Amino acid sequence: MTTVVLEGAVTRDALDNGPYLALPFEVPAGTTRIDVTYRFDDGHILDLGLFDARIASFPSREGFRGWSGSARRQVFVARDGATPGYLGGAIDAGTWQVVLGLAKLGPTPCHYHVEITTDSAPRAQGAEPRPRSVTVPGPRWFRGDLHSHSYYSDARGSLDDLLAAARARHLDFLAVTDHNTVGHHVPARAASSSDLVILPGEEVTTYRGHANVWGVTGWVDFRITRPGDVERLVEHVHRRGGLFAVNHPRHSPNCIGCDWEHPIPDTIDVFEAWNGPWAYRNWEALERYDALLRRGLRPTLVGGSDRHQPGWPDTDPESLWVGSPTTWFHLDALSEATLLQGLAGGRAFVSEGPQGPRLDLEVEGAGMGSAVHVPAGRALQVTSDVEGGAGSTLRYVGAHGVVREVPIPGERFTDRFAWPADGPFLRAEVLAVGDEAAVTEQYEALRALGKVPHGLSLDEVLGRPRRRALSNPVYIRAET
Ligand SMILES: [Zn+2]
Ligand SMILES: [Zn+2]
Repeated sequence: MTTVVLEGAVTRDALDNGPYLALPFEVPAGTTRIDVTYRFDDGHILDLGLFDARIASFPSREGFRGWSGSARRQVFVARDGATPGYLGGAIDAGTWQVVLGLAKLGPTPCHYHVEITTDSAPRAQGAEPRPRSVTVPGPRWFRGDLHSHSYYSDARGSLDDLLAAARARHLDFLAVTDHNTVGHHVPARAASSSDLVILPGEEVTTYRGHANVWGVTGWVDFRITRPGDVERLVEHVHRRGGLFAVNHPRHSPNCIGCDWEHPIPDTIDVFEAWNGPWAYRNWEALERYDALLRRGLRPTLVGGSDRHQPGWPDTDPESLWVGSPTTWFHLDALSEATLLQGLAGGRAFVSEGPQGPRLDLEVEGAGMGSAVHVPAGRALQVTSDVEGGAGSTLRYVGAHGVVREVPIPGERFTDRFAWPADGPFLRAEVLAVGDEAAVTEQYEALRALGKVPHGLSLDEVLGRPRRRALSNPVYIRAET
């Protein structure tokens, strides 16, 4: 065994070169295991990652061996295993890098101390579980959660706990999107089944915004440092057959990088307008979504619980469970491939949970996510169906704001009207009515757990109508 120590100090000036500090070290031939431990001064946060000799400049496809944010102080990779979130297997000689992510630097220098031990004891390379490719017949609505975490990144709960929670809510699919890693992809795909189809993803987690990527085999580089890197990354993801979503773009003062501060490229595929409890300022994300629609973009609107499972059975309030909110896709059949098609612009809506309410919208026969071509100036026939929304309000929103509001009188409700189309899109929402007592109870339950975002008052929450469902838009192309 050989141990090397890498020590130093970083100040905020280091950020001029980007928020990733690479510390190279040599891995000798015959190494079968590498252990890394680190510590740093109080008042700062340094994240930890490990790259092997294949790492290239951004965006690199190769060389990723693990990322743990600030969730772990010691990690290892070996021929026969690895810390969750890290990739075991072959350990090739060469210049590797420990990477420190400069998540938060205080005004004083931050001293770091990294110890790396390499070991060459004989270790057999482990066998990986087999991925399962599952297809569930349709056509019908399939419901699931597009955003969740396990102990492969910063959640405490295991992958098994997370899947058990999703099955208990009768979700049809679940995307596991751990931060900046793909260590969960192989075990998650091996657990895919006809009662829960797994879509592996990665939450690309930068210090100025988070983005979900689904449909890419292998790691997606998160080291965004220069203007234009987000556009480059979206293009890179597309080249590899994946889809790119902007996540939870809203004011989140106690969460590093949770708001979206990068420019939003025209090329994004998906927009997470509803993340976790509605009360978490999701109205801000929805306002940004409408601004993108007015800009002429057509990203698919989705929701995600962002569940960081603490264990199973789940003792947290329901508003924090996996499946709160739920995203629904109408698909001919359910599989990883058809979910990606749904995400790329299919018929989809979001509801507060797996029980609904269900919401469907058509304009002149064109469904959510699609476009209708009509002569300019003609009124358009709009139809929507709501199931499970009795007592709530159905609202339509266009480019100039609210188009129409009607009370929902029963559990099954169809609304029809003629709309003098005055903009490039129409979408629908189900709004809760008279639920101040329930909202207050939910807010207090979250506050008791310390899970209300910093600075978010009950008055601010009560000042916004709670959404129970959000449709995707139908797009209008007026032909002159
Ligand atoms: Zn996030
Ligand atoms: Zn997340």
